[in-house]
Amino acid sequence: MGFSLPKLLILIAVIAVVWYGFKAAGRINRNRQKEPDQAAGKKTSEITARDAKDMVQCPKCNAYCASLDTHTCDT
Ligand SMILES: [Zn+2]
Repeated sequence: MGFSLPKLLILIAVIAVVWYGFKAAGRINRNRQKEPDQAAGKKTSEITARDAKDMVQCPKCNAYCASLDTHTCDT
């Protein structure tokens, strides 16, 4: 018998550590690839919603402007 029980247990422990190390590394890589897409999509939708909300139609000349306080009619 070349294998003793303590050596076999150490071998199993080393294989388990390497296996869990690869699984953890794969999970971290997937999370890193996922985050930029979510952040970019969220930022784009926020800008679009804000731009649409800021546009106001003037009741006198019907022109769209950012704010009626700073708007002056052409006619
Ligand atoms: Zn106007």
